[in-house]
Parts: sequence; structure tokens; C-alpha cells
Amino acid sequence: MSQLHRLTLAELTGRLGRRECSAVEALQASLDQITRVDGDVRAFMSFDAADARAQAEAADRDLAAGVTHAAKPLLGVPVALKDVLSHRGQPLNCSSKILGSYRAPYDATVVERLKAAGAVVFGRLNMDEFAMGSSTETSAFQRTLNPWDLTRIPGGSSGGCAASVASGMVPVSIGSDTGGSIRQPAALCGVVGVKPTYGRVSRYGLTAFASSLDQIGPFARTVRDAALVTGVVSGYDRRDSTSIPQPVPDYLAALETASAGSRPLAGIRLGLAKEYMIGGLDPEVDAAMKASVARFVELGAEVVEVSLPHSDYAAATYYIIAPAEASANLARFDGVRYGARVEGKDPAEMNSRTRGAGFGAEVKRRIILGTYVLSSGYYDAYYLRAQKVRTLIRRDFLQAFETVDAILTPTTPSAAFRVGEKSDDPLQMYLSDIFTISCNLAGICGISVPCGFTAPKPGVPRLPLGLQLLGKPFGEETMFRIAHAYEQSTPWHRELSPLS
Ligand code: GLN
Repeated sequence: MSQLHRLTLAELTGRLGRRECSAVEALQASLDQITRVDGDVRAFMSFDAADARAQAEAADRDLAAGVTHAAKPLLGVPVALKDVLSHRGQPLNCSSKILGSYRAPYDATVVERLKAAGAVVFGRLNMDEFAMGSSTETSAFQRTLNPWDLTRIPGGSSGGCAASVASGMVPVSIGSDTGGSIRQPAALCGVVGVKPTYGRVSRYGLTAFASSLDQIGPFARTVRDAALVTGVVSGYDRRDSTSIPQPVPDYLAALETASAGSRPLAGIRLGLAKEYMIGGLDPEVDAAMKASVARFVELGAEVVEVSLPHSDYAAATYYIIAPAEASANLARFDGVRYGARVEGKDPAEMNSRTRGAGFGAEVKRRIILGTYVLSSGYYDAYYLRAQKVRTLIRRDFLQAFETVDAILTPTTPSAAFRVGEKSDDPLQMYLSDIFTISCNLAGICGISVPCGFTAPKPGVPRLPLGLQLLGKPFGEETMFRIAHAYEQSTPWHRELSPLS
């Protein structure tokens, strides 16, 4: 069997560039691995092999004509998409029944950019319905499992993205992060996940969950690969009014400095938020954090305490603002514009029947919550107040960034939990985002990198853990540099899940 599916993006483009393998072979290796393991993992909801093959053949023609990876950095690389991104002619369901047989009529900006960079874009990856959840269990269609332990969840909402990369089905996938949906599953599956600064990546063609929080970002096996893909999809787009006209730095060049010398992080200051160091942290997560801090110090960084005084309010604020925006965004699924419809005696009945049958329980909970906090009697008490607290949370970060280059936290409070463990307790589920949601509220950037494993226990294999670095607005370059230096000094990114 070909081992091409086990390569990182950098290794694969190296081979493609030297013409040691073709793009069609690389795609076939992905498809073979999907056939081999996705019956268990169930990351993909569907994929169009013929369309992918046509793209791979075009990439091979480019390679034969001498096009290099300097010109098209993803030439011949298979990249899979979360089921929330428009890919022309392909199904788009957001893992919900309400979209019925809808197919996207156009490419999202990120898909255009991936294709322009030569990627072979294919597949619809499973997710929590409309990206609401932390375990991928709210998908209306299937349950994705964690490739490190098939009795556990892969995290969410981009669980299919994380599981597909962690099991070697694709070297890169693209997800969305509204409150942690890239970083949390990346941590729980032992891969790298990036949430870029708000406005860095165009949201055009991303089905909106909470528009002021949503960002698109990559999953990959290494920081270098994730940095490269972030660079490819970033940049101003006039079709997204919140995308910011800021030049995109060469993120790979930033990593070169990080590789140099034995103390590559000399001069870097990292902050540990004292509000995050409260008791109750899982002892293995706590131990991994302490070991990471020691490693950063060895790498030359200075680690200091910072304060984010409004941290306690982050979850409450998020669970007012995100549902409020979601309730407005999801109003478009009315039985008229898209997909599924359940008939009724008049339009109002048709509308309520369609939404009643089309949305799952978690989505309905969010719509009801969101409508409530926006209603005239409660708007000031909840929504308006949450917006004010959001400003305070952003201010906390901007103040901390006056003294540190990045903030260090665990990505998740514990390793992957068991399937079903939290599905009946929404509050417990919401708390799995406790370390990731502030980043979206503040609009800053964040990355999760593997930082070790739990110890194996009777009946439980070792499970991956993730470390989160939070960077300044548009501070991706420094964030990648720090994450890369750390990663290069640790062994975990070289480990593949048992299914690979
Ligand atoms: N888990 C969070 C939620 O349920 C965040 C989801 C996301 O980032 N899309 O809202």
C-alpha cells in the first residue's frame, strides 16, 4: 500500500515537486485511506471522486508544464472542506436536514483561493449542525469518532475536519471557528488548528452562524503546513464587508527565524492568565501545561503572569451574542429560499412545519435563546449588556498584549470525552469551550498545537492534548513563529493516530 497519505503537506509537495509522485496518486492515496478507515471514523458525509480526479489531473498537467510550488503552493494537494463552505456544484448541508438537496451555486472565496493555489478540493466533512456544538454529535446525519479512540468524540463543531487529518485521510482540511470549533477538535484529535484574526479570511461562501465571531481556518499536521494554508486563504475580499485590507505577510518566512539557534524564542514574552489558573483543571492537562511552560522557557521565552479580569463572563457573553446572531442568520431557512419544505395550509404553517422538522434540538435551543435575548423587553438586559461586556473582554486582551507577545492556555479543560457523555447536559457541553471563546469575542487570532498525551489507563488508550496560543489582532506571524519553535522542540506532531 502506498504511504503517501501519511505525509505532511510539506513532505507531499516536496515529492510532487520532484515528480516522485503525481497528484492523481496523492489523491488516490487519500481516497484509499478513506475507504480503509472512514467506515469507522465517519468524517466524510460525501465526496465527489470524479470531480477531485479531474482537479488532480489538471494539477499533473501543471506539474508537467513546470509550474512550481513557489507559484502554486498547494499544487496537487488534497484538501477537504467542512460542510459549511460553498463548493460549486457540491452538496452543502451544514449537517442539517433543512437544506435538503441544496447544492452550492458558487465557490466560497477560500475555495477559489485554494483552487488558484493548485489544491485538489473535495469532500464534505461532518460537523455539528450549523456549527453549534463541541462534539459533532448534533449532526443530523452521522456521528464522527475520534481516530485515537473510537468510543470518544472528535470535538466540534469541525469534528470531521480534525478526524480526517488525524487519521491520514487528507493532509489539510478547512473548517470554521465561532467559539473554538477549529482549535478544540484540533486539540482533541492531536493536530494543529488555526483561528485567524477576525477579518483576516473572507467569510464569503461560509454559511453564517454568528457573523461577528465566525472565521475560517485550516487543520494540518504541522504549524508550518497550517501557516502556509492560512497564507493562501487570507486577504482582503470586497465580497465580505468585514474582511480587512491588510497585506498578508509571508508566514513561512517568519518560521525561518523560529528555527534558528538553540534559544529561538529569546526576546519573546508569553503571558499566563491568572484567571485561567483556577483549580478544577484536569490534572493531566495541568501537568502538560506546566511542562509546556518549562519548554518555552528553555526556548528562550520569558513567561509572565497577565490578567484578563473579565474572563468569568466570557461564556455567558458568548452564549448571548452567538445565539442572537444565529437566530437572525437562520431566519433565511424558511422553506422558500433553500432546500427542504414541509407543506402547510398557509405560508406561516409551511414555515413553522419546515423549521420544526428541519432543525435539530440544539439549533432550536439556540434560535429560541437568541430570539429571547433580542426581544424588546430583554434586549437591554441581555444583548446590549453582552455587547458591552464583549468590549471589556477585548480590552483585557489588548491591554495584556501591551506587555506580552502571546497568551498561553490549555485549548480544552480535558481530553476527548466519551460519545454521549455530555449530550444531555448542554451547560457542560458549553463549558468545553471555556478557553477558546474569548478569542472570538475579542477578534484576535489563536492556534492549537499538540502538547502531549494523557497516560493510557485500563481500557482507555492515551489521548492527545492541545496547547493554545492567542495572538494579537493580525499577529499571526508571531503566533506561528512561537508555535513552530515549540512544535519543533517536541515530538508529538510526528505521531499519527493508530488508524493512519
Ligand atoms: N462550541 C461552540 C458553540 O457551540 C463553538 C462552536 C463554533 O466555534 N462553531 O457555539
